[in-house]
Amino acid sequence: MSDVVLELRGIHKSYNHGAPNALRVLEDVNVTLHKGQISALVAPSGAGKSTLLHIAGLLDSAAAKKRAGDLLDMVGLGARADHRPSQLSGGEQQRVALCRALANNPSTLLADEPTGNLDEATSNQVFDLILEIARETGLCALIATHNPNLAAKMDRTLRLQGRRLHQE
Ligand code: ADP
Repeated sequence: MSDVVLELRGIHKSYNHGAPNALRVLEDVNVTLHKGQISALVAPSGAGKSTLLHIAGLLDSAAAKKRAGDLLDMVGLGARADHRPSQLSGGEQQRVALCRALANNPSTLLADEPTGNLDEATSNQVFDLILEIARETGLCALIATHNPNLAAKMDRTLRLQGRRLHQE
């Protein structure tokens, strides 16, 4: 049985397509994500990481939010389900964001700078939780990050450069 979870082939994306101010963001992007494989998506701000993650997410419209309770338990926030975001710390909010991502699509985790606004210690904790859940559940994950230390913890690095995706 194939362990391919998500395959993107020949992806092109422009904003304002056809207009004089059209912005070409992605050209002939190809990538295959495998079960249990964690990939860093690396590129400067504005290069198209979010765009690529959104396109990848649309290909796998997922089961709804009914796993949310279980997922909150998994990250230790089951008792906080009724709390508003403002009643949670930054690290707790990111754990909830992780649950939302997993509820959306159990087979794949697409995360856009999941620890970008956290201090280093909290960032490492949340990131390690992501890795632990991904490895325990056999998820495939594509995680955009600016942080080379976090990228180095993943299985491989995919670098978006000159609108194209290169594997390192
Ligand atoms: P990254 O996540 O790598 O920072 P983005 O995917 O957010 O990059 O954006 C890539 C480029 O596309 C940027 O120049 C951004 O300004 C532009 N862009 C993103 N979303 C839109 C949109 N809805 N309309 C027009 N331009 C957009």
